[in-house]
Amino acid sequence: MMNVYFDNAATTAMSPAALDAMIPALQETYANASSLHTVGQLAKEKLEQARADIAACLGAQPAEIIFTSGGSEADNQAIVSAARWGAKRKKKHIVSTAFEHHAVLHTLQKLEKEGFEVTYLDVHEDGMVRPDELEAAIRPDTCLVTVMYANNEIGSIQPIAEIGAICKEKKVYFHTDAVQAVGHLDINVKEQNIDMLSLSAHKFHGPKGVGCLYARCGIILSNIIEGGAQERGKRAGTENIPAIIGMAAALKDVLAKREENEAKVSAMRDRLIEGISVIPHSRLNGHPTKRLPGNVSFCFEGIEGESLLLLLDMKGIAASSGSACTSGSLDPSHVLLAIGLPHEVAHGSLRLTLSEYNTMEEVEYVIKELPGIVEYLRNMSPVWEKLEKGEQEHVI
Ligand SMILES: *Cc1c(COP(=O)(O)O)cnc(C)c1O
Repeated sequence: MMNVYFDNAATTAMSPAALDAMIPALQETYANASSLHTVGQLAKEKLEQARADIAACLGAQPAEIIFTSGGSEADNQAIVSAARWGAKRKKKHIVSTAFEHHAVLHTLQKLEKEGFEVTYLDVHEDGMVRPDELEAAIRPDTCLVTVMYANNEIGSIQPIAEIGAICKEKKVYFHTDAVQAVGHLDINVKEQNIDMLSLSAHKFHGPKGVGCLYARCGIILSNIIEGGAQERGKRAGTENIPAIIGMAAALKDVLAKREENEAKVSAMRDRLIEGISVIPHSRLNGHPTKRLPGNVSFCFEGIEGESLLLLLDMKGIAASSGSACTSGSLDPSHVLLAIGLPHEVAHGSLRLTLSEYNTMEEVEYVIKELPGIVEYLRNMSPVWEKLEKGEQEHVI
């Protein structure tokens, strides 16, 4: 049996580059960067070097980077900041989409309870926002547009530069949750007119529990964590310098190998899609071409995603049904519902997410094992029996 890790959208293994940078940092860079003594100032230098490195990777200025505990915190801070700014100017309308990550959606729902109005754009069957619909949704009282760069479940890549240009012209703040995009897709916050961007280290082979918010110079941030004056007073708490150093090293490393990684990962993705597509009554979710290099998302009629995951796990294959955050609940994924799938189809979902650490051999192993597992589950399913007898119509 092979052991295959195909859940890289949930989290990734740390890269040797990140580990090499972090291990000495954990041992040596323990001083507090706010301390005035020499070792404290040395820690501060390392912190600022990491900030400059990350800023350079995004096309930003170092002063525009605020370190956070990860993507969720960055999403919260970006959205709450724009909302607080808007509320002072009687702008209490936000434009977003129906398939954002819960870190965005739940923050928006909290604001709705406080009297904000949110327009959730349709992402259509292909998992894509339509820029003309976005433009039409912007009103004089809109304070923020927040649209993710690439979806974590179905991998569709949004027209970020086009959205940025619209927001710039309409003078509305634009935030993007780029957690799935950073390290894998082109990013330049200035060229793409991005005002705020969230990223998380553990999605590109860095450590967990660290990320950052890019906020364009001039944007007034509100605090999520109150306390000391770290991060220019915008995010209190002693900085996790070893993790921040690991994040910078991981990002520089993935970007240095980006072309090579993209070629390798997308070839494995395409082979996997080809191999899985032969399973009858299956469908590929998301856009056929505008998708993350490592994302494969399918639905199979007549089966439950959860049982599929258990049987795959018994074959050594680590996969996911939707996002890691919805696992454990029986509700179908809000992303699959947002692209218009009926509940019964959305329940039979499988997400396989690859990284450059995977191999074509692993892809072939999954292609060999999966059809038999799907067939086994269908043979046990009362729904499938009805479909086969023609008592119920196939949807896919
Ligand atoms: C993983 C993920 C997050 C959350 O990031 P954390 O660092 O785990 O808090 C947010 N948005 C997207 C799109 C993600 O994939």
